[in-house]
Amino acid sequence: MKIKTTIAGSLPKPTWLAEPEKLWAEWKLKDSDLFKGQCEAALHWIKFQENTGVDIISDGEQFRKHFVHGFLESIQGIDWNKMTTMGIRNDRYDAEVPTVVNELKRLEKVHSKSTEFCLKNTSNDFKITLPGPMTICDTIANGFYSSRKEMAFEFAKILNAEALELEKLGVHTIQFDEPAFNAFTKEASEWGVEILEVAASGLKCKTAVHICYGYGIKQNIDWKKTLGNEWKQYEDFFPTLNNSSINQVSLECANSRVPLDVLKMLSNKEILVGVIDVANLKIETPSEVCKLLEKVSAYVDYKNIIACTNCGMAPMPFNIAEEKIKSLVAGANLFTKSI
Ligand code: ZN
Repeated sequence: MKIKTTIAGSLPKPTWLAEPEKLWAEWKLKDSDLFKGQCEAALHWIKFQENTGVDIISDGEQFRKHFVHGFLESIQGIDWNKMTTMGIRNDRYDAEVPTVVNELKRLEKVHSKSTEFCLKNTSNDFKITLPGPMTICDTIANGFYSSRKEMAFEFAKILNAEALELEKLGVHTIQFDEPAFNAFTKEASEWGVEILEVAASGLKCKTAVHICYGYGIKQNIDWKKTLGNEWKQYEDFFPTLNNSSINQVSLECANSRVPLDVLKMLSNKEILVGVIDVANLKIETPSEVCKLLEKVSAYVDYKNIIACTNCGMAPMPFNIAEEKIKSLVAGANLFTKSI
């Protein structure tokens, strides 16, 4: 049996499209030139992933500025001029965020046009990522709904409409990114997973949730230093997640302090095992990747293992991301040979 590979989501953008090695980088092109440029960048990554041997490929989020705001830009009810400074991820860092000031409505399909382009240009399985409802609500200020949970429910219904359309186009996997789950573990268990299932309801394609301790940016690296030697936060909501209808869970295992035995709590799920560190420029060797997959296989049935990156690679140098993806595939192939 072949161990499949995929990536968590974002990939670096070429320097002519957006400022490199930066989150929230401004576009360097405008209007129709921008879409053309995004297509060209996505095509590069599609062909790169195909040629490298990645099984379930993505557009590397070349069509959006940021994994949350790229989606929100097409939603009515948000005032982008009313920016609120908010401590996000449970006050891990401050960000200037837009404010919900009215009933939320999706005015148009958000990712259909770009996804159609990608599907036309690949015969591989294609994954699209969407921000999860809880994470959206941690990246936007609430000036309208009675609670964060109520706002999350409204976003979940909007995400579901979008997801059902993307499924119809032929995507293989729809992944919701919920890094906020580990900042709010209690709420994740109380309502986060349930509302995530609203976003995924009715989908027959593969569904996934990506949870993580954040991009390799300074604020996250500093926060991780405060978490102690063993990161056990996941134990709070893994039982709820394991009982949910979501098919796959993506999480970081490379250089993370998540004790691998917590993976036993997700026995009903396929695991997108993060074997590539995105907070470190050092390229993992295929043998390091293989060894980590071997360790994980002590806790996860290898039939449920898909090798993946820890998180999005958007803030990394372009060539480093390419080399890391090559190691990901080579390491997974080594592991396949060993089982
Ligand atoms: Zn992540």
